[in-house]
Amino acid sequence: MSEQKLSEEKVFKDPVHRYVHVQDRVIWDLIGTKEFQRLRRIKQLGTTFLTFHGAEHSRFNHSLGVYEIVRRIVDNVFKGRQGWNEEDRLLALCAALLHDLGHGPFSHSFEKVFSLDHESFTQKIILGDTEVNKVLQTVDASFPKQVAEVIAKTSEKKLVISLISSQIDADRMDYLLRDAYYTGVSYGNIDMERVLRVMRPQEDQVVIKKSGMHAVEDYIMSRYQMYWQVYFHPVTRSGEAVLKKLLHRAKYLYNHSYSFKHEPRHFYTLFSEQTTLQDYLNLDETVVLYYFQVWQEEEDEILKDLSSRFLNRNLFKYVEFDPAVEYKKYKELTDLFKAAGIDPDYYFAFDSSSDLPYDFYRPGEEEERLPIHLLMPNGELRELSTESEIVEAISGKRRTDHKLYFPQDLLYDESKEGPIKKQIRKLLGIE
Ligand code: CA
Repeated sequence: MSEQKLSEEKVFKDPVHRYVHVQDRVIWDLIGTKEFQRLRRIKQLGTTFLTFHGAEHSRFNHSLGVYEIVRRIVDNVFKGRQGWNEEDRLLALCAALLHDLGHGPFSHSFEKVFSLDHESFTQKIILGDTEVNKVLQTVDASFPKQVAEVIAKTSEKKLVISLISSQIDADRMDYLLRDAYYTGVSYGNIDMERVLRVMRPQEDQVVIKKSGMHAVEDYIMSRYQMYWQVYFHPVTRSGEAVLKKLLHRAKYLYNHSYSFKHEPRHFYTLFSEQTTLQDYLNLDETVVLYYFQVWQEEEDEILKDLSSRFLNRNLFKYVEFDPAVEYKKYKELTDLFKAAGIDPDYYFAFDSSSDLPYDFYRPGEEEERLPIHLLMPNGELRELSTESEIVEAISGKRRTDHKLYFPQDLLYDESKEGPIKKQIRKLLGIE
């Protein structure tokens, strides 16, 4: 194992953490790889910039931030403490830096439409024939595999995994602070310094000293607020709805031998769902937005219209919808859209968002979550919701929100479909 230090520390100015410090040669070299630099061209929050115009920050920003938080934990808090193995330092830093490496452009929408999985691409980039792999190999031949296993959560090093992926981890802390900063909302402003200072390494997890419980409560409430105020914002989801419809249309046209004026070469293997690593790496948001720009000149009316809607933020409107009670209405509306000459496959969408703010361990449930443990003054561990009334009140409570999305502007005209459109408006409750 070779751990080479840089002759002089490098620093990146960062608006959230002020500075990101790099002392290790391997970290510096990883940042310089083309696979990592690609993250500059992928926004952290996908379509959120359509709602909060400041949210243009990239996955590159966030990845450096997660790295810096882990660095502060291991170098300033864990170092020299019992329970922390200094040999895992570089592993933790590399896994933090690379945890989001496999994200693609507008990840959520692309993954749904093209059946992709960013986590499997993260593994492929780390283990495949890439610059990142070569840099990791300089540490040790088995190092790429060790890093990949921490990110995939299959590693035996549970403590290292919990630094990057648990209910209170460096990933979540960075995105809350960073997304709050760039969107301009105040909810995500947690006292991270306080949380870091009370973190303690235990055999298989990071635990929190009891005296830091209030900072953790604040973090959990912030996260809850950020989900509903930012991440699940209905306008952001409308942007995603338009984007998914647009990608579906392009895929449909390709698979039905439509002849594009602007051949979507970069999308071919996505459309046929046989994406190679190289094709995937060549795709970023600048490439995708280029196609949306030129598709505005296509013959196909739907492709043209949806491209223009996305680029010019002429999004879908939405209404609340309860699928348990109103399931008949959904079918009825689908038929009416067809009758009105508005293809429901591309202009009518149902979307649900759902979040579980905190949960204790429930064996056998589909998303088993590691709980947050408090370290009591007598050395005992207690699960957070047994000590905190605030956390107990929201533990295990899932909140779900359902909406219907549609282009309201197409529902008003005096054409022969006018009366059908009036019926649609009535059913949607927008009359
Ligand atoms: Ca992340």
